[in-house]
Amino acid sequence: MAADPKAPPAEAKKPIKRLSRKQAAQMSLREFLAESGPLVRRLLSYVHPYRFRFGLGIFFGVIFGLFNSIVILGLKYVFEIVLPSDEALETGRVPIAGNFDLPRPELSGEHGVWTVLALCGIVPVLILVRGILGYLSRYFILWVGQRVLYDLRSKCFEALMGQSLRFYSKSKGGELMQTVFNRTRMVASAGSDVAASMVKHPVSIVTFVGMLFFLDWKFALVAFVVFPLCILPVIHISQKVRKAGGKEEEEAGMVLVTMQEAFAGIRVVKSLAREEYECARFDQGCKQIEKLVMRWRKAMEIVAPMVETVASLGIALGLAYAWHVNMSAGTFLILYASLIAVYPHAKALSQLQIMLQKCLIAASKVFEVLDHPPDIPDAPDAQPLQNVRGAISFDKVTFSYQPGIPAVKEVSLNMEPGRRYALVGQSGSGKSTLFSLLLRFYDPDEGAILIDGKDIRSITQHSLRDHIGIVNQDVFLFHDTILNNIRYGNLEATDEQIIEAARHAHADEFINAQSKGYETIIGDKGSNLSGGQQQRLSIARAFVRNAPILLLDEATSALDSESERHIQEAIDTLSEGKTVIAIAHRLSTILTADAIIVMDAGQVVAVGNHSELLGTCDTYRHLYQLQFGGSLQA
Ligand code: ADP
Ligand code: MG
Repeated sequence: MAADPKAPPAEAKKPIKRLSRKQAAQMSLREFLAESGPLVRRLLSYVHPYRFRFGLGIFFGVIFGLFNSIVILGLKYVFEIVLPSDEALETGRVPIAGNFDLPRPELSGEHGVWTVLALCGIVPVLILVRGILGYLSRYFILWVGQRVLYDLRSKCFEALMGQSLRFYSKSKGGELMQTVFNRTRMVASAGSDVAASMVKHPVSIVTFVGMLFFLDWKFALVAFVVFPLCILPVIHISQKVRKAGGKEEEEAGMVLVTMQEAFAGIRVVKSLAREEYECARFDQGCKQIEKLVMRWRKAMEIVAPMVETVASLGIALGLAYAWHVNMSAGTFLILYASLIAVYPHAKALSQLQIMLQKCLIAASKVFEVLDHPPDIPDAPDAQPLQNVRGAISFDKVTFSYQPGIPAVKEVSLNMEPGRRYALVGQSGSGKSTLFSLLLRFYDPDEGAILIDGKDIRSITQHSLRDHIGIVNQDVFLFHDTILNNIRYGNLEATDEQIIEAARHAHADEFINAQSKGYETIIGDKGSNLSGGQQQRLSIARAFVRNAPILLLDEATSALDSESERHIQEAIDTLSEGKTVIAIAHRLSTILTADAIIVMDAGQVVAVGNHSELLGTCDTYRHLYQLQFGGSLQA
C-alpha cells in the first residue's frame, strides 16, 4: 500500500515556528530567545558533528578574553618603568595596583638602553600573542561555519531534488536558488559571528572592567557611570536597525527571480524585444536593495561616532581626576587604553542580537525547504521493479491539477507488452497528463496505474522511471559535451554504447560533422543544434536507457522531411520489443500503431485500429480530418 501523502514525515511533526521579520523586530531579547529556542537547538544539531573544533574556537575565545588582563598588566609594568612617576623614582619600586609593586630595574647605567629596548619589546610580543589567540578562535569557528554551510546547502538541494513537479510549478526558481545559496550562507556566516562573539566579547569586557577596578577602583567607578550613558544610544539605534536589517535579503530574492527568469526566458525576452523592460525590473530591485542597505548601514555607522563623543566627555573628566590625584602619564594611558578597549567588545555584543536574528530568520527559511514533505513519497515498503515485461493498465484513473477540474476522468486502459499505442486527442484532452501519471509525477486522485499488475505506488520511483524511456517534444540539453548529454539517459553507458546509440538515432552523422565530434560542447538548451538534431539526441538518450516502456511525445512543429524520415526510422528501431505509447501527431504513427486511443476532454472515448475508428468514432473522424490532414477515403 502506498504511504498516505498527507501524513507528515517524522521531522515535521513538531513544527518549528517560522519567524517573521516583523515579529522578531517587536520582541524583546528574552522573548526572542524563548521563541527561537527550537531553531537554535536545531542549528546546534548541525554543529554537533564538529563539536571538537567548535569547542576549540570557544576555548580560544575565552583565553583571548582573559589574556587581555595580561596585556594590561604587562603594558602597565612597561609604562611605569619607562614613564615613571616621581614617587617611583624615589622608592625604586614599580606600582602595579593598590599596594602591590615590583622592583624597578636600573635604566641609567651602561646597559640602560638595552633594558629599555627589551622592556619595550614586551609590547609587540603581548599584542602578537593576543592576535594569535583571536585568530585561532576565529579560525576554528569559521571552519565549523563553512562545514555547516556545506551540509546545509547540499541537504537543501537534495530536499529540493526530491520535490514533485507540483512543488516546482508553484515555486519560483530564483527564490529557491536564494534559499539554497544565499540564505544558507547567511545562516552560516551570521551563526559563526554569533558563536565567535558570544563568549569572547563578554569575557573580554569582564576582564577589562575587572582590570580597571583592580588598577584604580575610583577611576573605574566614575568611568562606569559615563559608560552606561554611551550604551543608551546604542540600544536605541540597534532597535531601529533591527527593523531595516534583513529586508535587503528578501529583495535580493526578488532580483534573483528576475534574473533567473530573464536568462531562462531569453528567447522570449529577445523575440518580444523586452530587454529594456527586464533591465528596468532588475534595476528597480537593485535600487530597492541599495536603499535598504543604506538605511541599515547608516543606522549601524552612526553608533560609533555617538559613543565616541560621549566617551570623550569621560576623557575630559578623567583628565581632571588624574590631575587631582597626581597620576603618572603611564597609569593614565593604561587606564584609558583599557577603557577604550571595552568599546569594540561592547559594540560587537550589542550587534549580537541582530546577528542572531539574521541567522535565525534565514535558518527558518532554510528549514522550511528542508522540512517540506515531498508530495509524492515512496511507500515505506516500496519495492524496486524487476524483470519488467511492460504491461500497463490504467484502472479508472481520475486526476485533477486543480480541485474540481479533472484533467483525466475515469480512464481505464489495458496495454499489452511489446505493442505500440497511439494516443490522439485535441490539445488539452489529457494526453500528456496520462504520461505524467504513468511516470508518477503526480498520483491519481482515484483509481490506480499498474505495471505488470503492480500498483506503481508500491514501486520505488527511481526504479519505475528507470524502466521508462521518454522522447519529448521539448528536449533539454545540458551545457556539456554531446557525449555526456547522451549519457544522461544512462550514467553507466560506455562511450562505445553511446556512439552505438547515436548511430541508431541517426545522430552519428551530424555529431561527427561538429568541430569536436562527440566532445563538442552544446550550449544551454542546445542552441547551436537544429530542432531535428536535438530530437535525435533525445532519441539517442532513450537508446542508451533501453527501457522496456517507451513514451513518445511527437513534435507538433514541422520538421524538414529529411529530419522527419531519420527520426521516424530511429524511433522505429527504438520501439522494437518495447511497449510504446506515442502521443501522435503524424499520420504514419497512427497508421502503424497496434491500437489507437482516442481522448476527449480527459476521457478515453474509443480504442481501436484506424479503420474501425473511422467507422465508429465521430471524435476520431473529426481529428483525423483536422490534425492528420486525412481524407475520409484513406
Ligand atoms: P494534452 O497533452 O492532451 O494537450 P494535457 O494533459 O497537457 O493535455 O492537459 C490536460 C488538462 O490539464 C488541460 O486542461 C490543461 O490545461 C491542464 N493542465 C495540464 N498541465 C497542468 C498543470 N501543470 N497545472 C494545471 N493544469 C494543467
Ligand atoms: Mg500535451
